[in-house]
Amino acid sequence: MGQIDQYLDLGYTGIVRMTQSDSGETVVCRDRRKQCMRLIVSWTDVPGQDQRLKIERMEIISESRYQKAIVEYGGILDTEAVHQARNRRRMASIAAQHRQTQSAPACPKCGQRMDLAPTRDRWLCATPSCNGRK
Ligand SMILES: [Zn+2]
Repeated sequence: MGQIDQYLDLGYTGIVRMTQSDSGETVVCRDRRKQCMRLIVSWTDVPGQDQRLKIERMEIISESRYQKAIVEYGGILDTEAVHQARNRRRMASIAAQHRQTQSAPACPKCGQRMDLAPTRDRWLCATPSCNGRK
């Protein structure tokens, strides 16, 4: 689902995949303003991460052409269940951030809030000019 998520991150919904190869695909979808679009995209390998979506070409298409593509190419990929799962992940991540903020200690040097270090084994002062740690 990582790949569909990248379309959603860019504000595209109602994604219908028309053709697919190792390096790219052609889809029809709606943009943020609900305009029907055809996108030609490529997938770029990023070491240690998911492939990254790059839009090579986009074209506005008619509503009727979009509706025909939905029927012809097996339907919309980002179903209601996909959107719900995405919202749940987003809520869980907000809740986790909130818990971290709630439990953050005060800096022993300046008294400001501390952030968990990326290594998650210590706290670092959130104030850039302070190097307080705990
Ligand atoms: Zn500090």
